[in-house]
Amino acid sequence: MSVGMSLAMKAKQPKQKRCDRCELYTPEASDKCIHCSDLNESQLAQLQAQHQETLEDNSTFGKYLLFGSGIIGLLLLLSFL
Ligand SMILES: [Zn+2]
Repeated sequence: MSVGMSLAMKAKQPKQKRCDRCELYTPEASDKCIHCSDLNESQLAQLQAQHQETLEDNSTFGKYLLFGSGIIGLLLLLSFL
């Protein structure tokens, strides 16, 4: 995703605040968190575990991306030799 595109997406989104309970973003306009307001403690723990997994997936993907661009850079370098 290009920087310009992600900026445009941010501008489109309504104002959000971070929920203290589940640490997910929820619209500022709603006084209750849209993610965890109807969850009990065990459901909340499950939600947080899922959220953690998503974060880890993203960082793994980032590593692959970095690795891929490293390979491409190396190939480019080799083609000049
Ligand atoms: Zn919440």
